[in-house]
Amino acid sequence: MDVDKFRIKDGSSFDLGDHDAGYTADYLSKDTAVKHMKANIRRLYELQAVLYADNKRSLLIIFQAMDAAGKDGAIKKVMSGLNPQGTQVFSFKKPSQEELDHDYLWRCSKSLPERGRIGIFNRSYYEDVLIVRVHPAILESKNLPDPVKNDPDIWNKRYRQIRDFERHLTENGTKVIKFFLNVSKEEQKERFLSRIDTPHKNWKFSSADARERGFWDRYMEAYTEAIRNTATDESPWYVLPADHKWFTRLAVSEAVAQALESMDLRYPTMTEEHLENLQLAKEMLLKEDGEGSAASQT
Ligand code: ATP
Ligand code: MG
Repeated sequence: MDVDKFRIKDGSSFDLGDHDAGYTADYLSKDTAVKHMKANIRRLYELQAVLYADNKRSLLIIFQAMDAAGKDGAIKKVMSGLNPQGTQVFSFKKPSQEELDHDYLWRCSKSLPERGRIGIFNRSYYEDVLIVRVHPAILESKNLPDPVKNDPDIWNKRYRQIRDFERHLTENGTKVIKFFLNVSKEEQKERFLSRIDTPHKNWKFSSADARERGFWDRYMEAYTEAIRNTATDESPWYVLPADHKWFTRLAVSEAVAQALESMDLRYPTMTEEHLENLQLAKEMLLKEDGEGSAASQT
């Protein structure tokens, strides 16, 4: 499938109005999309094996979205075929006191993927230009120096800090890709109602979710600004249609596979010495077999 149309590499002309949350390309039904997603999961498994063996690069995948857009389900489904040893998932909620005692990138820095691994952030430092921008009182409550807190240019500075941080990661071997799961306000309402009406989904709903929905337009503005200012060639945003979960998951699987392919990963090449050692080890193992069978005859 073609994910290019969702990829934002240069945010300067980004407009959320150009992105249809209900888009499903040529897929008329869920069945074919699920089949293609499963094929992508097999592709991801192979790519991850090389990333792990190479042990030099890593991939950071950031998920951002409004509540009920399907972050958790996309992470669960798409990553289901991966080797758990090579994957790490971190969720970033309301910061703890310890986290508030540091700058906003700190808790995410601590959770970056090790070399050879795929790291997934379920929410991220982008919250500090999203929910914090939508609710100025949160910024007010933070223990920041007054000149920082009262700086009218604080958001542009944070976008620049994020671009710098992501460039720093890229230049040191970590590729960063960002997903915005673009669910419509109507579909969010349906999903909230289903969470309220279905007992085993009740736990997924909190009154805070309904409260944040009341700030929908401000969130969309904050997302637009964030994407405009932090979409770059090396760390693109993918604005994925999220009204049909099966389509979102297919698109995520394709975008992750393409990101890994673009990293041009290879299994490590063996030195002459290592190859000679392998041959020596093989000879010893075979000799051991011979000894074993001789012993069993006596
Ligand atoms: P779920 O899918 O389970 O609802 P969730 O990611 O929405 O997962 P919640 O515990 O419902 O998790 O919500 C976490 C909340 O924490 C979100 O509203 C998010 O915006 C908020 N949050 C995350 N980072 C920050 C931050 N740096 N400052 C303030 N609030 C934050
Ligand atoms: Mg929530």
